[in-house]
Amino acid sequence: MKTIIEPFKIKSVEPIFFTTKEERVDILKEAHFNPFLIKAKNVIIDLLTDSGTSAMSSEQWAGMMRGDESYAGSSSFFHFEETVRSITHMPFIIPTHQGRASEKILFSIIGGKGKYFVSNTLFDTTRANIEFSGAEGVDLLCAEGNQPALIAPFKGNMDVARLEQFIQDKGAENIPIVMITITNNSGGGQPVSMENIKAVRAVCTAHNIPLFIDACRFAENAYFIKLREKGYENKTVFEIAQELFSYADGCTMSAKKDAFANIGGFLAMKDEDLAMHCRNLLVITEGFPTYGGLAGRDLEAIAIGLKEIMEEDYLRYRIRSIEYIGDKLDIDNIPYIKPTGGHAVYLDAKAFLPHIPAHEFPGQALCCELFIEGGIRGVEIGTVMFGKYDADGNTIPAPMELVRLAIPRRVYTQSHIDYVTEVISAVYKRRNEIKGLKISYESPLLRHFTAKFERL
Ligand SMILES: *Cc1c(COP(=O)(O)O)cnc(C)c1O
Repeated sequence: MKTIIEPFKIKSVEPIFFTTKEERVDILKEAHFNPFLIKAKNVIIDLLTDSGTSAMSSEQWAGMMRGDESYAGSSSFFHFEETVRSITHMPFIIPTHQGRASEKILFSIIGGKGKYFVSNTLFDTTRANIEFSGAEGVDLLCAEGNQPALIAPFKGNMDVARLEQFIQDKGAENIPIVMITITNNSGGGQPVSMENIKAVRAVCTAHNIPLFIDACRFAENAYFIKLREKGYENKTVFEIAQELFSYADGCTMSAKKDAFANIGGFLAMKDEDLAMHCRNLLVITEGFPTYGGLAGRDLEAIAIGLKEIMEEDYLRYRIRSIEYIGDKLDIDNIPYIKPTGGHAVYLDAKAFLPHIPAHEFPGQALCCELFIEGGIRGVEIGTVMFGKYDADGNTIPAPMELVRLAIPRRVYTQSHIDYVTEVISAVYKRRNEIKGLKISYESPLLRHFTAKFERL
């Protein structure tokens, strides 16, 4: 088979600024060993996130120019609404400035003390919004999902038996919605099968609990279903996405992911009363219901991006380009979550640095070394992000210690990626010398964004 190539040409480029290893040691120290605090111009390959970092197409940029900036009833809103509706078939579509704004609105209304929100894995902002409302977030990931080295097609699936048990234990009346994250970002970018979504839907229906989808990477998930699930080989990604949403009562979305937009998001739902409450909050926090915190040009870019994201030449390249990183890591037996997910490679820091215990943050230490070695910025998804303290102040570790290298959409070429894998290999060769970290400052919520560290 021939190489699967980028299905686009480059029209506009941005420079990369190079630094030396000595300079990067100082940069990292100034950033208190937290990659979030490094200036972007000091990063060579930025894999911090795939969120809002996509390269827009010439069509999207043309749409930006066409954007209708009318305060009310903008034609860009109707283009956006019609596109979202064609995929989700939801009657009520509410634009927001990004995914977490959708979450804030939704959980302010349906959250609160004594409530439980059950998911395969809640993303960090989703969990934070749930907890901020006073409610509790519960992750019920399938057993395969917590075994990094195990190869299985749908490691993002929810554990349906535990869901049923959880509802029995806590009572359906205390569970306002069940939420499935597709793909499962915090759990390795792993997809959820259509069969699993249908099974969760059936449990929800039996207990009269609405099902919401955190739809940030719906197109990547739909493509995995096409590749891996029987009966979907000959369906289009658009048809698979429509089926996916047909089982849901609502969704939250960050258009910074599978819409190729640099900003944006939405909430969509079937319940008119809930939509009314959401719009009331939207007006005081985001904006009028036909722009919701976005410019008309953003709505236009999202509408166009949502169609481009479902093009199968793009998705074939996208999924293969991530798998390619895994193939390279396999040459040196470098541990990562297998198989590779849709938008990122997740290095298994627990296996990479077995001599560093969870409370000394192996994932964070690995992030720091990737930066020093090659100016690569990734993000820890482990005890820094999800760790808690017990009553005695001891660390309760996260289930996995990962370093996520998220690949921005349509941004880096194969030689950039070859460089990345060379840097990872170089760090792996000197892994025994790498030391852990301790926290010197942290905030109470989402501490990973602003925490400061010291080397042990
Ligand atoms: C990014 C993301 C969000 C939040 O979206 P923002 O646009 O960053 O606010 C929610 N859920 C998942 C799965 C995400 O990846």
